[in-house]
Order: sequence, then structure tokens, then C-alpha cells
Amino acid sequence: MSVQVVAAKMAEVELKDVAGKDLAPVPPVTPKADDKGVNKNEPGAAVPPSASPTTEGTAREDPFPAPSPNPVKMPQASAMKRTDPQQNGGEAFVNSDGTVAEAPRMKKIQFADQKQEFNKRPTKIGRRSLSRSISQSSTDSYSSAASYTDSSDDETSPRDKQQKNSKGNSDFCIKNIKQADFGRREIEIAEQEMPALMALRKRAQGEKPLAGAKVVGCTHITAQTAVLMETLAALGAQCRWAACNIYSTQNEVAAALAEGGFSVFAWKGESEDDFWWCIDRCVNLEGWQPNMILDDGGDLTHWIYKKYPNMFKKIKGIVEESVTGVHRLYQLSKAGKLCVPAMNVNDSVTKQKFDNLYCCRESILDGLKRTTDVMFGGKQVVVCGYGEVGKGCCAALKAMGSIVYVTEIDPICALQACMDGFRLVKLSEVIRQVDIVITCTGNKNVVVRDYLDRMKNGCIVCNMGHSNTEIDVASLRTPELTWERVRSQVDHVIWPDGKRIVLLAEGRLLNLSCSTVPTFVLSITATTQALALIELYNAPEGRYKQDVYLLPKKMDEYVASLHLPTFDAHLTELTDEQAKYLGLNKNGPFKPNYYR
Ligand code: NAD
Repeated sequence: MSVQVVAAKMAEVELKDVAGKDLAPVPPVTPKADDKGVNKNEPGAAVPPSASPTTEGTAREDPFPAPSPNPVKMPQASAMKRTDPQQNGGEAFVNSDGTVAEAPRMKKIQFADQKQEFNKRPTKIGRRSLSRSISQSSTDSYSSAASYTDSSDDETSPRDKQQKNSKGNSDFCIKNIKQADFGRREIEIAEQEMPALMALRKRAQGEKPLAGAKVVGCTHITAQTAVLMETLAALGAQCRWAACNIYSTQNEVAAALAEGGFSVFAWKGESEDDFWWCIDRCVNLEGWQPNMILDDGGDLTHWIYKKYPNMFKKIKGIVEESVTGVHRLYQLSKAGKLCVPAMNVNDSVTKQKFDNLYCCRESILDGLKRTTDVMFGGKQVVVCGYGEVGKGCCAALKAMGSIVYVTEIDPICALQACMDGFRLVKLSEVIRQVDIVITCTGNKNVVVRDYLDRMKNGCIVCNMGHSNTEIDVASLRTPELTWERVRSQVDHVIWPDGKRIVLLAEGRLLNLSCSTVPTFVLSITATTQALALIELYNAPEGRYKQDVYLLPKKMDEYVASLHLPTFDAHLTELTDEQAKYLGLNKNGPFKPNYYR
């Protein structure tokens, strides 16, 4: 059964005259030049197309290379990118006593296939120090990650514990099964804000579109993921799961999942060795082989490619959520080494729209408030960049009574800012008077040292864009300036005359570093993931080749439609006459594939 049919049945819309033709998969994204002539889809070195994935061995043949230090630009569609909140350029760092120290550099990504065995486990200190060498992809996607469980309350490694759930099942490895009740309540809270998954569960009561699916997953293990996993199970899938991030697991949620019978291998504060061990425990199991992969960051896919390439004979598809993972898939595809179809969830229209505009509109205030307790009313704020993220930030601040200025380089976005009632200025015109500076351009060196020098005392400076180079933080690491860490993610940078600015998250993404992400945004992604799994699992032979695909537009529309009932929203239906006039099918898709 194809996902279109499933979706149609679930949505109770008529698909009689749609079947097949207008639901054709969105063709794989092929490399195309952007308006600056950059081939945005081009992976680094050209690798001659060759047959099957290699087994572990030479770097040259690595079918799933770690992201290069200078990754080539992704297609425009993937403008939403996540930066590594731990990322650090490795610059010199000026201590509060004026001494200069080198900031810790992020260790080179090291995949565990370079290791010989799992069992030589490091000490607790060793574990912590190893953690930075985890793939950066393990931190480049969202997690609400609001775990209330401190991983330090019990020093025993979960790998050294023998735990069973109340039914005697021990096929899991988590921090503490006794936290299951607490985790269940967290999951119930998340369910409230994930209406589409709950609707899928309800509407699929008779249907089991994932019957027989054996899904191995590697994502943040949070209450929102738990709702997704339990939905997949309700749709008929068996799931085994590891965490894609060593810090983001909500231990109590992992406990609730284990209590519910899921094979979960994850805890907050894993070492690098633990990280790969957990992934291995998900796939390396006698009598069970996955036939679907749900990945966030590409580490799981990488692991299977490296360690168990034969598994791909049974795998029907990969669903990938993160920018980094998608980039790796495109690299594989380009090299002719992708051996199953893959779905790029990251670039789904609904995900992009919600992540960039609405998520930032919701989280900018949260990030600022948590870090500074600032009052917004009457404050003068300059927002650099009036794209989706900038629009979200401006809307939120305006609603709070801030006086908002905008800087832009693009006359169209600049005009939009004007029409939305914002003063368009050059940064130099307002830099002395503003209370808050927010960058959202995706560009570099937007706020340079000269501007930082001219800011007034107490000015708050932060970044909402992908790159931590939008603010030239490196230029502040000079001996005459004193850095004072006043709170987690909050630094006062003090000039010799006593003036100080408040720098948040050292210029990394404010909302990812300092606040949580609304569950409703994660609901969009999780629903898209579920539908992508259904689609790939049920697609007839030949619909998808060994390439990277976007979810068909109709499915994107379906994801949105599943979220509408939350608002008691009543969608207008096209009349036959109107549909004919517009050349549309009454049931969609309502927009062309290129619409974003
Ligand atoms: P966008 O391309 O729609 O908007 C960026 C805007 O900045 C453009 O209009 C561009 O003209 C403008 N700009 C570029 N250089 C400028 C400069 N020097 N001065 C002023 N304006 C300039 O992109 P977007 O979707 O708004 O995303 C912006 C950044 O935020 C990206 O790096 C993206 O990866 C990131 N992002 C962050 C989050 C988050 O949660 N914080 C979510 C999604 C995307």
C-alpha cells in the first residue's frame, strides 16, 4: 500500500482520480548552480561512480565520509542548517585575568570503526573528554532536550547494569528503568502538541501500513521522539533505537520506552564509545535485521555502511532528517554509492517553513529571556537580515513592544521589512543606540569589531543564523578585553573603560544553545518522518531508485492538513469549476514542486 493511499484513507479525501500520476515522487534533487554560479549540490572531491558500498578500510573509498572541514554548499533548499552548539573555532581565548589561553578545539571527527573493541571503557573523566569527538552531525538538529534527569546522580554506567522492565524484558540499555513513570508523563505532555501523529495512530487503527517494517532509528531520544516511536509501533513497525546525540537523551523518556517494550540504547552523557556501542546494539542482533533506517545526522547509516554493508540488501530505504546527514547522502548518491532510496526530510517545505519562521518567532524571546531576563517593551533592537528567521524574530519583538530596526542587503526583503512597518537602516546608523543586536543572515562578519566597539554599555549581542561567524567573536579575544562568564551561555565582554557588552552563546545559535524548541515544530518533522517511512516502505518496485528524494508535495500538504484540526481550522475545498480553472486536482497537490 502506498503512502498516498494510506494518507488519503486517513485523511478521508477522495483520491479516485488522483491515483498514481500526480503523486509521483519528487525527482531526486540534482546538482544545480545557484545565482552566484556555485554548484550547491556538488560534494567535495569528485569520486568516480562505482558499484557497491565498500567495507571498512581506506579513507579514499569511504562511502560515507565524515563531513569535510569545508563542506561544499548545500542546495538552496537546505538553507535551514543547524550549527554545532559545542562548536568552537579553536581561537585564542582571553581569560578574565587577562591571560590568553587557547580555546579547546573541536576534535576531529572520529568514527568508531577505527576502534578495535567496545569493552575497554574509559573512566568517567575519560568518557567526558571523549565526548567532543562525536560526529558534529550528532548535534546539528533539534532536540527539545529538556531532561530533568541529571546523569550524574548515578555513577554506574548503564552498560554495567542489569535491568529488566516489569515484563522481564532486558533488551535495552538505559540509565534507570525506575524513572519510567516520570517519563510516561513527559510523553503524555508531548502528545498534546503532536496532533498529527496522534491522528495517524487513530486513523491507522485498521491499517497497519508499517506491518513487517523493522525500523532502526538514531535520533534525539526525547518525549517527542517517543511519540513518534509509539506511533510507528501503532502503525505496525518494530523499532530499535539509539541516540544521535550524546547529551540530549531524556533518561526518564528512555526508561518509559524501555518499560513499554522498545529496545532503546541511550542515556544522557554517553561517551563516544558508548555512542557507537548503542548504535551497534540496535543493528547487531541475531534473528533481527532492519529493513528501514530513520537517521538524524547520518551516523547510523554510516555505521551500517561500514560494518554491515550486506544489511542494505534488505533495507528498503533511509529517512534522514538533518542537514549533515542529507549532505552525506547526496555525496553518496553523487558518487554512485547510495544503494537504497533515501528521503530528505530536512528540505520538506513544511519543515523548512516551521523551523525558520515560526520556530524562531517562538524561540527568540525564550532564548533572550532565559539568558538575560531582559524586558522587551520599549527596547531598541536591530535585526540583521529579513529572511524567514529575521521575519520571525522581528514579529516576536514587535509584538512585545520593542522598537525594531532591520538591516538588509536584498532590496526585496528590505521592502518587505518596510511594508511590515520596520525601519530599514544600516547597522552603523543605529549601533550606538540599540539595546539588542540579533544576526540572522547566514552570512559572516555582519557584526565586526568596529561595531562591537561602538555599542553602548549593556548591549546584548546574539546570533540566530547558522554560522557562529556572523558576529566576529574572534575579534573580541584580545588582551585588552576582559571576558567574564556570568551565567551559562552568557559572557560579559568588558572594555578597558568599563563598558561591557552581553554576548550570548559565544555567537552560536541562540535558540539552539539557550532555549527549547516548540514541540509543535518537532511534530511537523516527526510526522514527515513517519510518512516518509510509510512511503518508502510501501512504494512499488521502481518508484524510487538509489537516490535522494524529497517527500512528494502532496505528502507535505498532508502533513500540514493533519495539524489543522488543532486550530479548529476549516479548509476551503475547490469547486470542480475552480479546480478546472486553476488546472488543479481538487485533492492537491495545490502548489508546484518548486513552491517553497
Ligand atoms: P534567508 O536567506 O531567508 O534570510 C537571510 C537574509 O539575510 C536574506 O534576506 C539576505 O539578503 C540577508 N543578508 C545576507 N547578508 C546580509 C548582511 N550582511 N546584512 C544584512 N542582511 C543580510 O535565510 P533564513 O531562512 O532567514 O535563515 C537565516 C539563517 O538562520 C541561516 O543561516 C539559517 O541556516 C539559520 N536558521 C536558523 C534557525 C534557528 O533555529 N535559529 C532556523 C532556521 C534557519
